[in-house]
Amino acid sequence: MSASPQRHAVFGHPINHSLSPAIHRRFGQQTGIELRYDAIDAPPETFAAQLDAFRRDGGGGANVTLPLKTLAFERCAQVSDYAARTGVVNTLEPLPGGGWRGHNTDGPGLIADLAERHGQDLRERDLLLLGAGGAAQGVAFALLDAGVRSLTIANRNAERADALADRIGEPGRVHVRYWNDLRNAGSWDFIINATSAGVQGEAVDLPFAIVATRALCYDLSYGRAATAFLAWSRAAGAAHVFDGLGMLVEQAAEAFAIWHGRRPDTDAAHDELRAKLDGA
Ligand code: NDP
Repeated sequence: MSASPQRHAVFGHPINHSLSPAIHRRFGQQTGIELRYDAIDAPPETFAAQLDAFRRDGGGGANVTLPLKTLAFERCAQVSDYAARTGVVNTLEPLPGGGWRGHNTDGPGLIADLAERHGQDLRERDLLLLGAGGAAQGVAFALLDAGVRSLTIANRNAERADALADRIGEPGRVHVRYWNDLRNAGSWDFIINATSAGVQGEAVDLPFAIVATRALCYDLSYGRAATAFLAWSRAAGAAHVFDGLGMLVEQAAEAFAIWHGRRPDTDAAHDELRAKLDGA
């Protein structure tokens, strides 16, 4: 008799369009690990109770997405060194006696996509990070670790940008710009859109002048949500333009490795999802 499949889930609100169940099922098939992976709609008010119930019912490792990553961090008995720096958790590893160890795989996932899938060298780049929410927080530290020369954070709500810069604590390398002052702020050779504007069907209002020649523009969103920013980047003359589908698959592979001790090959899952998104 075979053991019952390991049970996983992603918690978020809203969650109905999450691609994580499809990615993890694909990884399970590929590695021969029997698993079940559900998407659980969890508003912030009931997330803690839903997570406890999931564990009581035999749930194992879990992922957490918008808007629960800070709450998840606060629920953890332990966190990895990287998650401790970011203050946000997207991957929960069950501890043997109960409780959770929190990880943040968004940063490593983005770096893996940029460096390995797209062959980009991030060293000595001047980076403009648009947004200061959970995703920006999760990736900023990994980008600095990867060797970017400077990191400028611009967010609609300037206090949030200040708070992220303070948390990083590298005033020589990390700067803040007011969103409305970007028009006169110079240009960057690496721009990351970590806002949720695209997901909400809104366009970000930005001047072309911030895009330097040979710039790399990356949107953490993917599919239809990334269309407007990527079209804007091309029109502004960016040399390399990527969406966040690769990051999504890579951060999932990092989580899979934490739970199962094996990092799956990501190319097949990525290519299948890309074909689906392109055909949608
Ligand atoms: P949050 O809700 O935590 O933060 C949203 C951010 O977007 C804030 O900085 C907010 O600014 C900004 N924003 C929202 N609307 C606009 C707008 N119209 N113009 C300018 N700025 C805007 O979300 P997350 O940080 O968790 O997620 C951000 C995006 O990253 C989402 O699209 C998500 O899908 C994507 N993501 C992708 C991942 C991947 O693996 N590819 C992983 C994680 C996230 P303000 O503070 O002023 O409100």
